[in-house]
Amino acid sequence: MTAHITPLIIGNWKTTPATLKDAITFIKNLDKKYTASKIKLPKKGYYLAVPEVFISEIVKCSVHGYIGAQNVSGISLGQTTGETIPSQLLSTGSTFTLISHSEVRKRGETGDERAHKVALSLQSKLLTILCVGEQTRDKQGNYLSIVEEDIKQSLSLVSKNLFSNLVIAYEPVWAIGGTTPATPHECFEVVIAIRRALSSLVGIDYAKKVKVIYGGTVTKENAHLFIQEGGVDGLLIGRASQTVSSFMEIINICHGT
Ligand code: PEP
Repeated sequence: MTAHITPLIIGNWKTTPATLKDAITFIKNLDKKYTASKIKLPKKGYYLAVPEVFISEIVKCSVHGYIGAQNVSGISLGQTTGETIPSQLLSTGSTFTLISHSEVRKRGETGDERAHKVALSLQSKLLTILCVGEQTRDKQGNYLSIVEEDIKQSLSLVSKNLFSNLVIAYEPVWAIGGTTPATPHECFEVVIAIRRALSSLVGIDYAKKVKVIYGGTVTKENAHLFIQEGGVDGLLIGRASQTVSSFMEIINICHGT
């Protein structure tokens, strides 16, 4: 990571906590610890992808973070049941959205849907975090071309002028929700492949505007390794973002590294 870049620390709450009251208590405790931190932190130094129904209330009480969604629809305004479109997210105070987390892909999201989600989200000016990552690794290195092809297809409808609001989250599926993260070296190799795919799509000048982050069993013990050696601009954190103390420790570590 380049020293002057503020790291993107993004928590993914998934289907936690159980109630809005618990979510508000979490944010208040987190912000209290944030204010008391001994590290020099920016005014806003974390991102939290929260359950969609909580967004507008959480936005009101969060002082030090950006609040966003875990998914968004790529369809247009109109007659479709059970979907939320980017303009609706924005109007509740959401500043960003995850797209194509592996758990969303597993439920049947198609490549075409993905391409529309990314394009509409970026056109709507949401910071757009596209998740990519191989299911498994093979000795021949085919996982690199799988990730590169995924990026090219997912970004096929996006104008290069919007790339500055795009983040690619490299999340190897085999590392999510388990006990074994990728090594920083394994991460670095894929970050290079991601940057190669972006450059071949839009040229180096636009590709450079895209931030690349890592997710998959990030903990307070390993977070600094990805920032220092993994070639990433930040982290996407599942379980360790769901308790105040571990998320705050990771925020401190990454901003202090
Ligand atoms: C995730 O689901 O995006 C994730 C990275 O989860 P965890 O950190 O729990 O592996």
